[in-house]
Amino acid sequence: MQVIGALGVAPYPQGAFLLISGSCHCGNIAFELLWEPEPAEIPARACTCSFCTKHGGVWTSCPTGALSVVVADPASVSRYAFGTKTAQFHICAKCGVVPVVTSEIEGKIYAVVSVNAFQGVDRSLLKHASATFDVEDGQSRLGRRKRTWISSVKFRNGNA
Ligand SMILES: [Zn+2]
Repeated sequence: MQVIGALGVAPYPQGAFLLISGSCHCGNIAFELLWEPEPAEIPARACTCSFCTKHGGVWTSCPTGALSVVVADPASVSRYAFGTKTAQFHICAKCGVVPVVTSEIEGKIYAVVSVNAFQGVDRSLLKHASATFDVEDGQSRLGRRKRTWISSVKFRNGNA
């Protein structure tokens, strides 16, 4: 059982916030997302790219939030990239779940997380929509990620 706040996303802000916990099925890749200010709803974007269509990727992000990802066994994470190869899907090699996608833009890591990997989040908060990004060129894609993806991202080796 995962303890809320255990992954070190703190310090917590003064105002209202939501702390979301998530992980792959076996727990090798775990995350905490500090969503601030507290959301009235959480956008859940079913990505229509060829990879997300096959594995059912549904993503969210809070550009003003902070994400902490803890990987217990980095050797058991497959990082998959395709197409423009600007995004990395972090796939647990043990259980096959994809909790996190990252994109490195100008030396900074941006991320989105899978709403399907959430634990203990009220599902009625999720506002489902589909998103098609295939028509974007490379520059507008990276610009959108800088605006809308989580910009405070920490990765930690759980054994370190
Ligand atoms: Zn796993």
